[in-house]
Amino acid sequence: MARLPTRRALLAAVLGVSWQQRLLGHHGVAAAWRRRCFSAGSKAEDSSRVTPMLKHLMFKIKSTGPITVAEYMREVLTNPVKGYYIHHDMLGERGDFVTSPEISQIFGELIGIWYVSEWMATGKPKTLQLVELGPGRGTLTDDILRVFNQLGSLLNKCDISIHLVEVSPKLSEIQALTLTGGKIQPELDVTSPVYMKGISKAGIPIFWYRELQDVPQGTSFYLAHEFFDALPIHKFQRTERGWREVLIDIDPEAPDQLRFVLAPSATPATENFIQSKEVRDHVEVCPDAGILIQRLACRIQEDGGAALIADYGHNGNKTDTFRSFRSHELHDALIAPGTADLTADVDFSYLRIMTQGRVATLGPLKQHEFLKNMGIDVRLQVLLQNSSDKAMHKHLLQGYDMLMNPKKMGDRFHFFALLPHQRFAHSDQKVDLRHSKALSATVAGFGELVWK
Ligand code: SAH
Repeated sequence: MARLPTRRALLAAVLGVSWQQRLLGHHGVAAAWRRRCFSAGSKAEDSSRVTPMLKHLMFKIKSTGPITVAEYMREVLTNPVKGYYIHHDMLGERGDFVTSPEISQIFGELIGIWYVSEWMATGKPKTLQLVELGPGRGTLTDDILRVFNQLGSLLNKCDISIHLVEVSPKLSEIQALTLTGGKIQPELDVTSPVYMKGISKAGIPIFWYRELQDVPQGTSFYLAHEFFDALPIHKFQRTERGWREVLIDIDPEAPDQLRFVLAPSATPATENFIQSKEVRDHVEVCPDAGILIQRLACRIQEDGGAALIADYGHNGNKTDTFRSFRSHELHDALIAPGTADLTADVDFSYLRIMTQGRVATLGPLKQHEFLKNMGIDVRLQVLLQNSSDKAMHKHLLQGYDMLMNPKKMGDRFHFFALLPHQRFAHSDQKVDLRHSKALSATVAGFGELVWK
């Protein structure tokens, strides 16, 4: 209970200040997020259907037979030569989709406050590694670092470092520009898992890696925003003869086209990935997400810290969410692969199961509730009061609506947290330590703020 006034003071210190307004960006908030189709693009018609990626996949299928949806997603998104994420910037109005940190600076600021609040709640450890998985354009970390900078007097004795896990050379270049202004060095030590390093505008060291396993152990605060939805899923369908995996094959009627087919018999995947009590007829499973969440849970259990995961998703009840986006419009996932984003909703219940009780989990909580609990209304008012620029007012209000409106991102996006059990050592020991409302109340964002 002693924590609440401190958190209140922290929020007042950050939300109420009249400091930096992010400049109006390269795109407005009119661009569409990945779930909706607000504006039509023109790119779709330009590019040919027979992409280098399609040729690569056709060759693969001709050589070894139909491939799983997971293999298709992995190849299309992160193939080191032709992958969608590897060579282009897909974010923003001119890209294929836009994300919350790109829409409003308030989003990243509130997340920054969440990390400082958790850092304080875990006894202000002397080191703070902020680890972001899939940092996009680097905007979210940049907004978080502004908060850290603002709270310099609180954090000045803490050794802060930033660790970015990113597969895309193109996006890591943009991240470096956003975060360091271009002050980076390639890592010359070929044995080092770090592939690039730099110093933030405020002097904080930043390191880039390709995988979470490469990030040094130690008290770490993890962030994954719209990252888990890009991980490859397996798709399954219930048939009269039992579960069958959905595969991707060449369409015999149109040799330049791919189609979905069902595996003729059960495979190890159907045996291993479908729960015996499953009631749905179509199921998507993301084993990569399961492995990743286990790694995060083990790290947090051993070293402390916390993880905040924000994505669109469900609690184990949705069936068919695999889809593709190009130029802010839904796109056929099997057409012109490599030119469009592929995504599937995150199954938070699966993530919770895969933590195996090593950590406490909170959420999933709808984005509009989380941001409200974090004080978005106060921050919006402060920013509005501190600007007389009409364009800025419009931008802030449109951004708020996009993030909070239940029909837009407010209801579809969810926040999910992993926290060490010790974090709740002083809470009522009788409650179930894994997920309970009583515990939520002690964690910023997951409980209603008292200071209102
Ligand atoms: N978090 C950002 C960007 C989301 S897009 C935002 O909210 O704006 C997904 C990000 O994850 C991109 O940076 C992409 O390059 C990265 N990514 C996708 N798959 C990845 C993988 N397997 N390993 C590491 N990074 C990956």
